[in-house]
Amino acid sequence: MKNAQCKKCLKKFNEKDIYTIQQFQYRKIPSYKWTLEYFRKSNIGEWDSFCEQCLTQYAKESIKAWNESK
Ligand SMILES: [Zn+2]
Repeated sequence: MKNAQCKKCLKKFNEKDIYTIQQFQYRKIPSYKWTLEYFRKSNIGEWDSFCEQCLTQYAKESIKAWNESK
């Protein structure tokens, strides 16, 4: 049953396929603290649900922003 919805693209998908920005706490760089702050500016919190595609997109965007902030 597709009862989860991606906050970004609004696509519906299975609850077991939910991705959140909590995934990013396993990245070495940037720090999770930086990451949370970055997403907070876009009104995205740790409990927001995203599909895999959108989270991958956010991963790229945040790395790019971090690189440009150095
Ligand atoms: Zn999505």
